[in-house]
Amino acid sequence: MKKLIFIFLITTIMVSCNTTNNQSENPFYTEFNTPYGVPPFDKIKKEHYLPAFEKGMQEQQEEINTITNNTDKPTFANTSERLERSGKTLLRVSNVFFNLQSTLADEEMDKIAQEITPKLTAHNDNIYLNEKLFERIKKLYDNRKSLKLSDEQNRLLEKQYKQFVRSGANLTEEQKAELRNINKELSSAELLFGQNVLAETNNYQKFITNEKELAGLPKDVKQAAAELARESGKKGQWLFTTQKTSFIPVLQYGKNRKLRKELLMAYTTRCNHGNPNDNKEVIQKIMKLRVKKAQLLGFNSPADFILDDTMAKTPKSVYGLLNSVWKSALERAKKERKELQALMTTDGVEGKLEAWDWWYYAEKLRMKKYNLNEEELRPYFKLENVRKGVFDLTTRLYGLKYQKMENMPIYHPDVEVFKVLDADNSLIGILYTDYFPRASKNVGAWMSNFTEQYIENDSNYRPVIVNVGNFTKPTAEKPSLLTMDDVETLFHEYGHAIHGLLAQSTYRSLSGTNVARDFVEMPSQVMEYWCWEPEVMKNYARHYKTGKVMPQELMDKITNAGTFNQGFVMTELLSAALLDMDFHTITDTTGFDVMEFEEKSLAKIGLIPEIIVRYRSPFFKHIFEGGYSAGYYGYTWSEVISADAYAKFKESGDIFNKKIATDFRKKILERGDSDEPMTLYKDFRGADPTPDALLKKRGLK
Ligand SMILES: [Zn+2]
Repeated sequence: MKKLIFIFLITTIMVSCNTTNNQSENPFYTEFNTPYGVPPFDKIKKEHYLPAFEKGMQEQQEEINTITNNTDKPTFANTSERLERSGKTLLRVSNVFFNLQSTLADEEMDKIAQEITPKLTAHNDNIYLNEKLFERIKKLYDNRKSLKLSDEQNRLLEKQYKQFVRSGANLTEEQKAELRNINKELSSAELLFGQNVLAETNNYQKFITNEKELAGLPKDVKQAAAELARESGKKGQWLFTTQKTSFIPVLQYGKNRKLRKELLMAYTTRCNHGNPNDNKEVIQKIMKLRVKKAQLLGFNSPADFILDDTMAKTPKSVYGLLNSVWKSALERAKKERKELQALMTTDGVEGKLEAWDWWYYAEKLRMKKYNLNEEELRPYFKLENVRKGVFDLTTRLYGLKYQKMENMPIYHPDVEVFKVLDADNSLIGILYTDYFPRASKNVGAWMSNFTEQYIENDSNYRPVIVNVGNFTKPTAEKPSLLTMDDVETLFHEYGHAIHGLLAQSTYRSLSGTNVARDFVEMPSQVMEYWCWEPEVMKNYARHYKTGKVMPQELMDKITNAGTFNQGFVMTELLSAALLDMDFHTITDTTGFDVMEFEEKSLAKIGLIPEIIVRYRSPFFKHIFEGGYSAGYYGYTWSEVISADAYAKFKESGDIFNKKIATDFRKKILERGDSDEPMTLYKDFRGADPTPDALLKKRGLK
């Protein structure tokens, strides 16, 4: 599920500018003079952004200069804390701009982004490659034991120091030059990798001229394929591509075994054809550079370097966790294979089940066993009811109260605003919801901050949070009715929102969702567990016309369908996560052959031929283009942690257990990144996380 969370890495700094026109009315120049400090959307105009960015960078650069020009010896207050508190104008404009660039985009916004992004990168470099600044931070860090710092101060200093060091601040001049070179070569190799995947994906077209070949496909799938063919100038034909939305339905519903095979093979051999879009050599180059970079920065392997900054910390703990789930997943997949083979034989198809048969027979089995019809469920998932369901849940768990606010500044008419109060009526924060699709909005769902929580001069600045979705828009006849996936998404994103809302940190960098990437999905995934609990559904799953609660029989179907085909799903996912880890624990790239490496990696874990690793190396974009290198494990990791956390409620016999909820709030949600995630977690759970709860949830145990 592509549920993302936007965290603004700020990213700030530098560059002077004389372009500032006389914009005394630019709303970003001062603290927002609005109720609860929300952005004054009614006053913000596009022409305000660039000058505010420029001014924000200039201001922060001046603040940095004040720190580095200080002749007093470095103290936490005159260096670390000042760095943390710097760049307020830049933060104000960045948070608004990058949010609206995802929800209210147009050419002008894109142009501003293109212009400002390289400047922000340079500004950021000017801070983290500033030698005088690093020298002061390093002095503090080296003497941190004698500084009598609070836990939060200590954590902030460590985080800052680490950020400098990971950017190469500790290297000699010669090494710094080498690092810059590696970074440059890496980014162009990674870019090339992505371009090759895109080109290869776009190059493949399978036109069908005879409708008989499409037997079994649902009408809307055929329509989409016909439309695609028409767009390519072949009216009356059907076009399939290696985009998942195009070929997966064929694998699922298409009777034509030959076509299924052809499409799956086209998908899984992308960028492995020896043509100019082949990625094997690109991977060799990327791995060579990554190994070099990690070793330059003092680590054994790329994974050691990357994981040092996460909850997992080491390759060993990642392997430990993945392997503990792998065995059960593979065993389960083998059982599923048997069931599907039997179904295929009954179907009159001779021979062995193959990878291109799995989806098809799994779909048949699903219909036979669960017969879950989404359309039957939707009337019970009216958007407003589901949102109220999640609000009520947090009232029950944490005592929170919600007040709908009218006449607040909003950036689009679809946006609604809520005031969130604590049990004692003190302000928790402001919540914006923006749930309907429009052309100017990115796809998917996410949570973000317009302002973040922090404490300064005894004032606790409460955050302004936004939850964005792309749910069906209501019509004159029908309200917005959600699918099961939408319901889960809404709960999930609200889990992120609550992590941001309940924050109680002194420092913004340690506040709310500013945590390690393999920890940030935990509070959101925990929230998903409640949404299918009958006790919670009884509250929100009411028919939009009659107000009647969903019948028990339907609720049971939802519960039962959850474990279907999970051997396959987990095996496909985990084999990719393990392959990623194998690549990034390489310490020597001499004589390295990509496909041989992949083959060995998958043979080692015993992957069965009926299941293909979710991403084969030549198109594994997450790890060779994007930021998920030595990170693909994160999905499973956070799933294990969240299942384990929720198990604490279950074990108590009360999923609304007040004491456990309070613990979860105080020890996790309020704490942000104020300590190591594993320390926070164990403090809440009272033990190390185990995969038992996840295995149970997925029916693997
Ligand atoms: Zn998420």
